[in-house]
Amino acid sequence: MKLSVIGTGYVGLVVGTCFAESGNDVICVDIDERKIKRLKRGECPIYEPGLGDYLRKNLGEKRLSFTTDLETAVKKSDVIFLALPTPQTEDGSADLQHVLAVAKKIGKAMTGYRVIVNKSTVPVGTADRVREIIAAETKHPFDVVSNPEFLKEGAAVLDFMKPDRVVVGTRSQKAIAIMQDLYAPFVRTGNPLIVMDVRSSELTKYAANSFLATKVSFMNEIANLCERVGADIDLVRKGMGTDERVGMQFLFAGIGYGGSCFPKDVASLLNTSKTYEYTLHILDAVEAVNKRQKMVIVNKIKRHFDNDLKRKTVALWGLSFKPNTDDVRDAPSLTIIDALLKEGVTIRAFDPEAMEEMKKKIGNVIKYCDNNYEALKGANALVVATEWNEFRRPDFDRVKALLKEPVIFDGRNIYDPAVMASRGFTYYGIGRGLTGR
Ligand code: NAD
Repeated sequence: MKLSVIGTGYVGLVVGTCFAESGNDVICVDIDERKIKRLKRGECPIYEPGLGDYLRKNLGEKRLSFTTDLETAVKKSDVIFLALPTPQTEDGSADLQHVLAVAKKIGKAMTGYRVIVNKSTVPVGTADRVREIIAAETKHPFDVVSNPEFLKEGAAVLDFMKPDRVVVGTRSQKAIAIMQDLYAPFVRTGNPLIVMDVRSSELTKYAANSFLATKVSFMNEIANLCERVGADIDLVRKGMGTDERVGMQFLFAGIGYGGSCFPKDVASLLNTSKTYEYTLHILDAVEAVNKRQKMVIVNKIKRHFDNDLKRKTVALWGLSFKPNTDDVRDAPSLTIIDALLKEGVTIRAFDPEAMEEMKKKIGNVIKYCDNNYEALKGANALVVATEWNEFRRPDFDRVKALLKEPVIFDGRNIYDPAVMASRGFTYYGIGRGLTGR
């Protein structure tokens, strides 16, 4: 099949590359000329495990190409995927300007029947708006399909190749047949392709992300209670997660959810509910808990140093919002950095992949170090903000020797409190009994 993917970010580049890998001819379109130039050279502009190799392979085999020319791409394609940004606006709603502007251009450029598939996360009713905009520009037949993307950054290629499910929102039999054909290689092992109406499909994505955010905030609240009653969240997690109805996944306490999806999707769903004059009480609480949780480590640091952080230095391990990605959008590390800088703290940071992205975002207000040990030099404490694998088993003797004081604030509970105590560290985790407060 001949496809176009408009927007070559974390979603679009994975979608385009994986569809090329399954034998389709894919044209990836972006307005960012620099990015397109790099992609044409086979350079992957984001850190996503496995993506670069597939990209170069399919580029070499000429199934994958990159352009800024949307019109030609639309003319040459049967199916056009939208993987455009839908960032949060001030009132919490999703900004649809990119999606709607591209819809208009597609309408103008169409030369025959097209399927326009929306992969961006968009509020209920967006497909109807896209349909109206295209219909005003063309006499050719077309279908608009909602096909939300569930990939996780850091495991995006694997998630796309082996999805738990594929959701397709449309009532057009012609479009359903095309989508089934396109996804057939990815659902061979029986994982379902679920067809539904377009509004249910649009809402499914928000409901799924909001539910996951709810799990995070729920566990963080229980963790905070653990600290007050002298219980250990890790044991509570195991005890409750082994109940099949609860399940073990996504129950880790930490320093709040971040990234480019959960915060904005929760806000957007809250905005939708307001539009329909309905109050989503649970999500209001999920958002409030998350805001508070992002400050939990900072409050522990302040308490430990008796509220006097001037001239203190903190080593910060991890900047990305989670491991295996260079994405720092809405990362909890940003809240920690901002709060500590305001208190007069010097920050020495290290992240295996996200330092360039962080530099683009906040500049040189923190010191970027060559490795995690370098960050410790002369620091009064270590803060772990992202659970990269390489932080899990450091040489603790070296850590202790490099730190001015042997204090660890572990925002991801990657170390064992008893082991830390036996090695002579003052250790603060999240929800790990009275000692962690
Ligand atoms: P991104 O910011 O990484 O990428 C968007 C790309 O679109 C950028 O390269 C940008 O230059 C390009 N673009 C912007 N306007 C354009 C235009 N008019 N024409 C062509 N290209 C244009 O965004 P992302 O993280 O890939 O997210 C895209 C959508 O997918 C969002 O709605 C997001 O909520 C959703 N989503 C993201 C993830 C994720 O993990 N990142 C997962 C599922 C769904």
